[in-house]
Amino acid sequence: MRLPLPFFGLFVAVGITLLSAQPRLEVADAGAAEKSAFKGCRLQDAQRFLVRSSYVRGGQLRDDQHRRAVRFRAEQYGAVEGLELERYNPELAYSRAKVVRFMGLPIEIHEKIAPAVRCVERRIKKTCTKKTQRYTPQAINGFRKHNTFRGLEISNHVFGIAVDIDPDRNPCCGCVKPWPDHPACQGEAESVFQRTALPRCWISAFERYGFYWLGRDPELRDTMHFEFLGNPDRIVAP
Ligand SMILES: [Zn+2]
Repeated sequence: MRLPLPFFGLFVAVGITLLSAQPRLEVADAGAAEKSAFKGCRLQDAQRFLVRSSYVRGGQLRDDQHRRAVRFRAEQYGAVEGLELERYNPELAYSRAKVVRFMGLPIEIHEKIAPAVRCVERRIKKTCTKKTQRYTPQAINGFRKHNTFRGLEISNHVFGIAVDIDPDRNPCCGCVKPWPDHPACQGEAESVFQRTALPRCWISAFERYGFYWLGRDPELRDTMHFEFLGNPDRIVAP
């Protein structure tokens, strides 16, 4: 059928609109067998303005960018004792703490990101099955009540949106001493993936659901640490 050009243009425009309106559902790129396992899990990337390298350069905090990132986190997750964030949100983030299980271990996180952690676990169990992709965590940590960064930078652990996996096997080579002394931080490495015991498949599973792997941070190389920097209102498919 040949359409007059204006009509054809309209069809194309409507088609593009419909396509771009499709939510990035896991089912879109998963095999039929995986559909049920990932139902309800929405793919998303970490939001750029929340990624550490957007507000820390050369070890220096960029005030405006940092304030914007902190404000978003406080508005979404709550205030933190001692950090004077109540102007953004009167509720404490820790009042929304929830214990969930991740790969067999309990972890305390903000309840808003519990569905994202569940989606990551499902993907790992389903897709990281080859011998080289298997990994058994021994120690995981989430919520912290007090800020652990030196200076003014605020850790995502105080909002309950960060997860550390086995610090002794997945070091932070760019952190303060004694971290750089860890055996995995010694010598040349082709990439940061050689500094960690975590399989790439695990790292990708987190990244598919809005987590940022701090191993990618050019200064910290914190390979144990994942933080949810996606939009918490877009974790679950409608
Ligand atoms: Zn951490």
